[in-house]
Amino acid sequence: MAVIVSGKALAEQIRGQLKEKVAAFEGEHGYAPGLAVILVGDDPASHVYVNNKEKACVALGMKSEVRCLPRETTQEELLALVDEYNAREDIHGLLVQFPLPEHLSQKAVLERIDPRKDVDGLTVANSGALASGLPGLVSCTPRGVIELIRSTGVQMAGKNAVVVGRSNLVGKPVAMLLLNENATVTMCHSKTQNLKEICAGADILVAALGRPEFLTGEYIKEGAVVIDVGTSRVEGKLKGDVKFDEAEQKAAFITPVPGGVGPMTITMLLDNTLLAAQRQAEERK
Ligand code: NAP
Repeated sequence: MAVIVSGKALAEQIRGQLKEKVAAFEGEHGYAPGLAVILVGDDPASHVYVNNKEKACVALGMKSEVRCLPRETTQEELLALVDEYNAREDIHGLLVQFPLPEHLSQKAVLERIDPRKDVDGLTVANSGALASGLPGLVSCTPRGVIELIRSTGVQMAGKNAVVVGRSNLVGKPVAMLLLNENATVTMCHSKTQNLKEICAGADILVAALGRPEFLTGEYIKEGAVVIDVGTSRVEGKLKGDVKFDEAEQKAAFITPVPGGVGPMTITMLLDNTLLAAQRQAEERK
């Protein structure tokens, strides 16, 4: 029976450490790290995410600024606000909550955000830095995945790691981070043949396909570390991509949904904001 890896507990532990680091930063510089979030439109889920980010920020002693713009905001208005935050010295991290209303370009927004403030790690500069092994800001959910694996004490170096899903948001950066940890990485996607066999050979399996309970017990190797990124609502309940009851019989470690990767994502956002503030303070010296 697998050990359940609680992202909630790990996130709380890291946030405790972060709170001390934020206080030390403020003591040294006389200001707190600042995060700005831009939200366009009235998508209820996005409002919940943004509220959670704001609360978490404030709880750690960071400055938080949320700008809610109406759905009919133009591309020019949105980019002008991005420019404003790029220029502000009291804001060190900036994110635009996606998805945007259809008439707005996600790509144009990402091209405009100052990479030094891109705490979501989604700009080409930051994903390129990750792929090239250069310092940058790494996207939050993938960072959370690696921290969860690390918390199990299982070595990543030399292990067969399989990532199911190849999105820019999750799959690709997770694979890059695992490669940086010296795992032997296989990336799978919707065109992959023999998915079951490939997953069943994984010492570390990261599920990020967005298909509820798709990976049943047959996909799991005995003794594997299973990290379930997936979140789908099924009849009002949150489901992961892994069939938990079956997988926990075979895995050595497994993350639950909810309470696994989710709580780590915001924690890594806060960590990225502090990191961005530290780097920007260094640059000003
Ligand atoms: P996405 O952009 O929809 O990407 C899904 C990926 O899975 C694609 O690469 C797709 O392949 C692949 N895929 C889909 N069906 C497959 C199948 N049957 N077999 C193999 N691969 C398949 O999703 P995402 O943004 O990466 O998110 C993935 C999941 O993680 C979602 O459930 C999302 O809600 C969740 N998520 C959770 C958090 C969190 O904080 N907990 C954060 C982000 C995302 P193709 O490329 O070939 O289409």
